[in-house]
Amino acid sequence: MILLARLDEFAKFTTPEMGKLFREAQGEVVLSADILNYFADNAEKFLAPEKLNIKEGEAFVESEPLGVLFCVEPWNFPYYQLARVAGPNLMAGNTLIVKHASNVPQCALAFEKLFLDAGAPVGAYTNVFISYEQTAAAISDKRIKAVALTGSERAGQWVASEAGKALKKSTMELGGSDAFIVLDDADMDAAVKWGIFGRMNNMGESCVAAKRFILHEKIADTFLDRFRKGLEKLVPGDPMESKTTLGPLCTKDALDLVQKQIKAAVDGGAKVLLGGERLVRPGYFLEPTILTDIQPKNPAYNQEFFAPVALVFRVKDEKEAIKLANDSPYGLGGSVITKDIERGKRVARQIETGMVFINSVTLTAPDLPFGGVKNSGYGRELSDLGIGEFVNKKLIRVA
Ligand code: NAP
Repeated sequence: MILLARLDEFAKFTTPEMGKLFREAQGEVVLSADILNYFADNAEKFLAPEKLNIKEGEAFVESEPLGVLFCVEPWNFPYYQLARVAGPNLMAGNTLIVKHASNVPQCALAFEKLFLDAGAPVGAYTNVFISYEQTAAAISDKRIKAVALTGSERAGQWVASEAGKALKKSTMELGGSDAFIVLDDADMDAAVKWGIFGRMNNMGESCVAAKRFILHEKIADTFLDRFRKGLEKLVPGDPMESKTTLGPLCTKDALDLVQKQIKAAVDGGAKVLLGGERLVRPGYFLEPTILTDIQPKNPAYNQEFFAPVALVFRVKDEKEAIKLANDSPYGLGGSVITKDIERGKRVARQIETGMVFINSVTLTAPDLPFGGVKNSGYGRELSDLGIGEFVNKKLIRVA
């Protein structure tokens, strides 16, 4: 497969464009290849005609492509996000016009070229560099049949309303502030390992990063002590170098925004247990940061921190953990760390969110449906659910 054969060539566009650690960029290319392979292997099965078990006669449902999709995508996983829309939809027979984020143009072009190099017809996957106004015009164009966006709530509201005005089906994959619940019986090694990975993967610039750490009071001090020590050990440096474990944020705007959020949180009564400042070195580096004592009136309580900032809360029991997890405008992923799997499932069922992982952070794989509820959006990508979003499930009935 071309993506894997030219893995480093693809990965090398990512790090200079958005700052991702090079080894993470390599991992993302592999994941993107897995997604494309998965839909190449399984689409026929997922979209096979379904015979209905009806009282009389014959009826079946067939899956027809809708036509041309318009996709708006973010920079934080500049290939994976594209693979999530391209893999299922090309296999379903749709074609794609994609407006990628403006700060990853080389990734955008490389992904378009991938399909041309693979022999796909011109127009099967088309990258466009266009403004917001042109995006609106494209969405209303009658040749566009549906719209998919991954990005912030603000962009989602705007693009969904344009799609709504034109009565076009849309999916919205938006932001999150995932709860990472550590119960009193948690395996502390696993909790700390996943907590650090969950907050620091992709330098915290992930929709499903662990963002709100909800700790049972019995283990809160132990967890926090080990979590803080783990974050302190991260090594800032050139994201291309393998010894670097703390990379920069993607842009100055991203750093400015998170610094403003931290300041507002502290002004609102939060305490800084670790970090909180820009690192004095070239690049937009933020110290790994832990904020505690965040009350519901604090602006941080309802915000997404798209950077390595952990918001920490203490709770007295499972019930309070669930209540706090649900007291969020978002509902994308979430985690429950416990040795008692039945207890983990019980808690997972009560969290208002699109995905819950027991004993790990929210992860992604081609065969797991991905998406959220509440302000985290609607619709699903990946798995058989993802390929079903933009097909006409047509009923054919023989009288
Ligand atoms: P963003 O600013 O919303 O940008 C995402 C995409 O939307 C970019 O292509 C951007 O274009 C475009 N865009 C923004 N406003 C637009 C408008 N009014 N009209 C047309 N296009 C518009 O988000 P981001 O900062 O790149 O990404 C971070 C956000 O995405 C976070 O909230 C994160 O949680 C979320 N996210 C969600 C998922 C998920 O699957 N749920 C996955 C990854 C990220 P420009 O670059 O040209 O501004």
